[in-house]
Amino acid sequence: MDRKVVIITGGGSGIGRGMAEKYVQEGWNVVIAGRTLEKLEQTKRDIEQFGGQVLTVQMDVRDPEMAERMVKETKEAFGRIDVLINNAAGNFIVNAEDLTVNGWKAVVEIVLYGTWFCSQAVAKDWIRDEKVGSIINIVAPWPGGAPGVVHSASAKAGVQAMSKTLAVEWGKKYSIRVNCIAPGGIDGTEGVDKLYPSEKSYQDAVDKVPLKRFGKLEEVASLAYFLSSDNAGYINGECIYLDAGEHLVQIDYLSHLENINIGK
Ligand code: NAP
Repeated sequence: MDRKVVIITGGGSGIGRGMAEKYVQEGWNVVIAGRTLEKLEQTKRDIEQFGGQVLTVQMDVRDPEMAERMVKETKEAFGRIDVLINNAAGNFIVNAEDLTVNGWKAVVEIVLYGTWFCSQAVAKDWIRDEKVGSIINIVAPWPGGAPGVVHSASAKAGVQAMSKTLAVEWGKKYSIRVNCIAPGGIDGTEGVDKLYPSEKSYQDAVDKVPLKRFGKLEEVASLAYFLSSDNAGYINGECIYLDAGEHLVQIDYLSHLENINIGK
C-alpha cells in the first residue's frame, strides 16, 4: 500500500512500455493493460527487475466493463490507484475518402471511447474513496489536424476537449487533475514505423522538425513522471507538446502513402 500505483493502457509496447519502465524504476507499482497478454507478460518480465511490481491486465479499452474490471483488479492487487495514463491507440495512413466505416470506428473507439471509459472507471473509484488522483492522456502534435490520419486527428482532438472539460469539472469537485502530453515522433515505436514507412519519409519529416530529430522514449516517460508528481500539482487542463516544435509545422502523412500503397 505504500508504493504509488499507475495504470498505463497500451503499456506492453512503445511509449507505454517506456513509461512503465520509468515508474517501476521510481519504485511505483505499475499496471499495464492491453489486448495481447504475451506482450504484456514479456514487458512485465523485462521491467519488474528494476523495482516496483507489475500487474498485467488483458483488456480492450473499447469495452467499459473491461475498464471497470481493470480498476477492480488493480485495487485487489495493490489497494490504490494514483495515476491513469490513457496511452492505447491505433492509427494508419489513409486517404479520407477511402477510409472505411470499420477503420473509422476502430481508431475513434480505441482513442476517444477508450480514453473516456478508462477515465470514468478510475475517477469513479477515486470519488468513492474520496481520493485525489491524476489523469494523463497521450495525444498527438496536431493542433491543426493532420492530412492522412483524419480518424486519429479527430479522436485526439476529442480527447483534448475531454481533458479540458474534466480538468474543470472534476478539478473543481474532486481536485482530480487532467492533462495531455502531445509527443512528436518518438523513435523506437510502432507509431513511427506506421507513419514513416520508408527511410525517405522518416528523413523528410525529421528535416521539417525545428530541432531536426524525433524524441526518445525516456523523454516522454520523464515528462509523464513529472506530471504525476506533487511538483506538477498546479498543472491542470494543460496539453504539453513534447515534440521539438513539430506541432508548429505541418507534416502531410498522405505524402507517405506512396511508400505503403494502402488506402487506394
Ligand atoms: P504502440 O507501440 O502501437 O502501442 C499501442 C499500444 O496500445 C499497444 O501496446 C496495443 O497493444 C495497445 N492497444 C491498442 N489497441 C488497444 C485496445 N483496443 N485496448 C487496449 N490496448 C490497446 O503505440 P506507440 O507508437 O507507442 O504510441 C503510444 C501513444 O502515443 C498513442 O496514443 C499514440 O497515438 C501516441 N503517439 C505516438 C507517437 C509515436 O511517435 N509513436 C507520436 C505521437 C503520439 P494490443 O494491440 O496488444 O492491445
